[in-house]
Amino acid sequence: MSENMSKQNLRELPSVDEVLRSDNLQKCAVSYSKKLVTGIVRDVLAKIRAEIIERQVVDASVENIGTLVKDYLENMLKPSLKKIVNASGVVLHTNLGRAILCDEAIEALKIAAGCPVNLELDLENGERGDRDSHLEDVLCRLTGAEAATVVNNNAAAVFLVLNTLAETKEVIISRGELVEIGGSFRIPAVIQKSGCTLIEVGTTNRTHPSDYISAITPDTALFLKAHTSNYRVIGFTSSVDLKEMVKIGRQYGIPIIEDLGSGSLVDLSQFGLPYEPQVRESIDAGADVVTFSGDKLLGGPQAGIIAGKREYLQRINKNPLKRALRVDKLTIAALEATLKLYLQPDALSKNLPTLRCLTRPVSEIALIADEASRLLKQRLGKDYFIEIEDGESKIGSGSLPEEAIATKVIAIAHKEMPPEKIFKMFLKNNPPILGRVRKEKFLLDMRMIEKAEEVAISS
Ligand SMILES: *Cc1c(COP(=O)(O)O)cnc(C)c1O
Repeated sequence: MSENMSKQNLRELPSVDEVLRSDNLQKCAVSYSKKLVTGIVRDVLAKIRAEIIERQVVDASVENIGTLVKDYLENMLKPSLKKIVNASGVVLHTNLGRAILCDEAIEALKIAAGCPVNLELDLENGERGDRDSHLEDVLCRLTGAEAATVVNNNAAAVFLVLNTLAETKEVIISRGELVEIGGSFRIPAVIQKSGCTLIEVGTTNRTHPSDYISAITPDTALFLKAHTSNYRVIGFTSSVDLKEMVKIGRQYGIPIIEDLGSGSLVDLSQFGLPYEPQVRESIDAGADVVTFSGDKLLGGPQAGIIAGKREYLQRINKNPLKRALRVDKLTIAALEATLKLYLQPDALSKNLPTLRCLTRPVSEIALIADEASRLLKQRLGKDYFIEIEDGESKIGSGSLPEEAIATKVIAIAHKEMPPEKIFKMFLKNNPPILGRVRKEKFLLDMRMIEKAEEVAISS
């Protein structure tokens, strides 16, 4: 487009009022606020103006602009948070909201969301109650801790514990544990932001008891042990286990805090899954305070759980930051219902979706894969190569990073189209289907898929 034409087009751009009066907008089914519509008209006009200046060919008619504004408004009314079909093979996918809640939690959420509840009301005497009372007893019974509380997430839990017990003081941690857990949670940064001085000991691969002992000063507030979650050092390594740290801690009067990350409330090996540290083991080994996530292996809502000795929990609860990091009634409702499933361990792998998914037999996954691949062959036609392959699912969220769980995947390739394009095509489905690309193929992991129809793209 020439400069002259572009100037001409700019002059002919309709005014805000003209667009507002356009048939399209007058006919909107919903009556939006005038302020909202005017704001969107201005934004659309600004975008078209910029496109004209860039000499793009644009339809600047009142009708077209009216349609763009109407589409924008209609899209705004649609939920931004949508159901996704998780065929990525990552069971606890942080980008997909991690754990799927159990039915009991979903029921509890409905009540807490739709009704007044006794969140902070003592039903014995009608006086003010404590929101932790709904969770503390069950948490203590499941972990063996004396006391427990819950905050927004595990990052908040670590932060609050450090800030309460070690602000202005020194926190000793092994260099092998100064890790970054996805999503910008870095142990060293959290230590510093909570007002503590980080004292690193040992080396990346080897830390010995004497390293901790020689770092102790009158300013030492605590020893921190962090689960390295998504990272592992192998080969010539040595670390000081929790029991040994506790022994040193007792000798010098220093509390031990352990950030377990995922942590588990049951022994996962009984389900044929790889070993993951259990919260109870840490409490039994003498950790003074343990923190872990509500929405990782525990299988509940986003939350950070702090369990440990009563004297420390009392101090943590008195920290004014606790008020800023506390959880709402929805989290409490969902977490309470989830935790109660653990009181019936025999039914756990049936009732807790996270565990059900992780323990799903490959034979059952293979059946779904069979059916889904048949549907996909019909839907996609002969330009696609579709095969069932053995694959590996991951737990995700930093749990058991080395461990893959056998699964069945549907591998899809196209005569010409690269797998990245197939990936995007499945994401455009309604509801979007998230698979993954590996080498020349697009893979759909069937572990999380209940009905074959879910992955049968509707194009
Ligand atoms: C995941 C993780 C965190 C952060 O927990 P969120 O619940 O995501 O805030 C902290 N520490 C460790 C070791 C973790 O694995």
